[in-house]
Amino acid sequence: GGTIGGLLARRAAAMPDKPALLTAGGQLSYGELDNMASQVAGGLQELGVEQGGSVAVMLRNRLEWVTSWLGIARGGYVTVPVNTAYKGTFLEHALTLTRAVALVTESAFVPAILAVRDRVPTLRYLILVDDAPVTVPDDVSVLGYDELLLKSDVSRPEVLVRPYDTAAIALTSGTTGKSKGVVTSHLMALVAARENLECMGTTSRDVLYTCLPMFHGAAQLNVCLHGFYAGATVVLSEKFSASRFWDDIRTHDVTMFNALGSVLPMLLAQPADARDRTHRVRRVFAAPAPPDVLLPFEHRFGVHIVEGYGLTEIKNVTYNPVDARKVGSIGRPTRTTQLQIQDEAGFEVPVGEVGEIVYRPLAANVMFSHYVDDAAATLATMRGMWWRTGDLGYVDSDGYYYFVDRKKDALRRRGENISSYEVETVLMASPGVIEAAAIGTPSELGEDEVLAVVEVGEVDGFDFEALFRHCDEHLPHFMVPRYYRAVSVLPRTPTGKIQKAVLRTQGLQERT
Ligand code: ATP
Repeated sequence: GGTIGGLLARRAAAMPDKPALLTAGGQLSYGELDNMASQVAGGLQELGVEQGGSVAVMLRNRLEWVTSWLGIARGGYVTVPVNTAYKGTFLEHALTLTRAVALVTESAFVPAILAVRDRVPTLRYLILVDDAPVTVPDDVSVLGYDELLLKSDVSRPEVLVRPYDTAAIALTSGTTGKSKGVVTSHLMALVAARENLECMGTTSRDVLYTCLPMFHGAAQLNVCLHGFYAGATVVLSEKFSASRFWDDIRTHDVTMFNALGSVLPMLLAQPADARDRTHRVRRVFAAPAPPDVLLPFEHRFGVHIVEGYGLTEIKNVTYNPVDARKVGSIGRPTRTTQLQIQDEAGFEVPVGEVGEIVYRPLAANVMFSHYVDDAAATLATMRGMWWRTGDLGYVDSDGYYYFVDRKKDALRRRGENISSYEVETVLMASPGVIEAAAIGTPSELGEDEVLAVVEVGEVDGFDFEALFRHCDEHLPHFMVPRYYRAVSVLPRTPTGKIQKAVLRTQGLQERT
C-alpha cells in the first residue's frame, strides 16, 4: 500500500539531506522537499479547499511543479496537470471537467486563464509562483506561493490519505475530440514508480533526468516519482534541446534519462562529437525504440536502452528486460500486468498473429478508474474483463510483445494491412531522414495510398531518389509509399509524438 505523501515522508526520515530535486530555480533535499510539500498541503487546507478537491497545476518544468504536486497529494487533494500550451476552449474544458478549485500557475499563463475564468465557476484561488502584479475578478483570490506556504499551520493534524484515493486527473491529448479526464489513484502512481525501478535497476546513487513536460506521466511518474521511490536525485530540465542535451547530462552527472517519440532520433541527428561517450549515463528508457534507432544510439553513446510500452490510463505495462532483451520488442508484462492479443470479437488470437493489445491488472487499483463524467467512453474501452488499448500488436512464443500500430493509424491497401509504424521505421533508416510519418490518403479505390512525410534537416536539395531506392529495397512492394513529402520539422505534441491528425489535414489540402 502507500500514498505519494507517505513515500516522501519515509524518504525524508531516512535521508533528510540527500539531494532530491535539482532545477534551474534551485535544489531541494528530501527533507526540504517533504517540508515544502507539507506546507503546500497546509496552505491549501487553510484556504479552505475541501479534501478531494481538484487543484490544477499549469507551470513550466520548474521546482514549484514538483512541490505543488507533492503538496496536493499530501493534503488529500487531486492534482490536475495542465498542458502549458492550453488556452481558450481547451483550457476551459480542462478546468471545468475537473472542477478545479485552485490553480497554481505563473504570470505568463494568467492572461489565458483570465480569458476563460467566467466560464469556470468553480475556480476560486489563483496561486502565483512569480510575483508579477495581476488584476483579477472579485470572486477570485490571488496569492503568491510564499504566502501559501506561510499560511500553513504546523500544529494542524495530518490529513488521512488512503492508497485508493484519487491522486490525479490526467487529461488525454484530445486529438480525436474533447480531451478526457483519466482518474488515477495514489497506489497506481506508486506501482508505476516501483515497476520502473525494478526494470531499470535504479538505486539511490542514480541521477535521473527529464526534459519532458511534467504535465505528462512520462516525466511525473516514470522519472520523478520513480527517482523518489529509489531515493535517487531527480534533475528537471525546462525543455528539450538536442544541441544542449549532452552538456546538461554531463553537468549533472546523470545516470538515467527517458525519451519518448522523437527524442532519440533527434539526438542521433546531431553531428558526432568526440565526447559522445564521455558521460555517466548507463540506462535510457525509451518508447518507442525501433532497432534502427536503438542499435546506432547504443553504439554511438554507449548506453543501454530499455524499451517499454504504456498509456496514461494503465501506466507502463511492459519492459524489455535488461538481461534478456529482444531488440524490436516492447518486452514482457510487468508483475501487476496481464496482457492478451484479441481479435475484434474478443477472442485471443494465436501466437504471432496481430490483434488488439488488451490489458487487465493483476492487482486492484493499478489502472485508472474511469474517465470523468464519461461513462460511455469508459465502457467503450472495456470488453469483458479486459481494457482495450486501441493498439495493435502480437506476442511471440517466449511471451515477448511487439507493437505494430495504433488501430486508428493502421493502413489498408490492396487488401493488405500495413503498419504505419513499420513503414516509418524503414523511412527513418534512410540517410538524411530524422523522423517520418506514414499516413493514408484515400485512393480511387477507396483504400489508403501511403503518404510518407519525412523530416529532413534541409528540405532544399533533399535526395528523394535515394529515399525511393531505399524504400524499394527494404519494404514489401505493397507497403512502398506512393506519395512523399519532405519537411524541415514535423508537427509534434509537447511529449514529442508526431501529430498525424495535423498531417492528415495538410495532406488533404494539398491534393485538392
Ligand atoms: P497523449 O500523449 O496526449 O496522452 P497519447 O494518445 O499519445 O496522447 P499516451 O497515453 O501518452 O497517449 O500514449 C500512449 C500511446 O503511445 C500508446 O497507445 C501507443 O500507441 C504509444 N506507445 C507507447 N509505447 C510505445 C512503444 N514502445 N512503441 C510504440 N508506441 C508506443
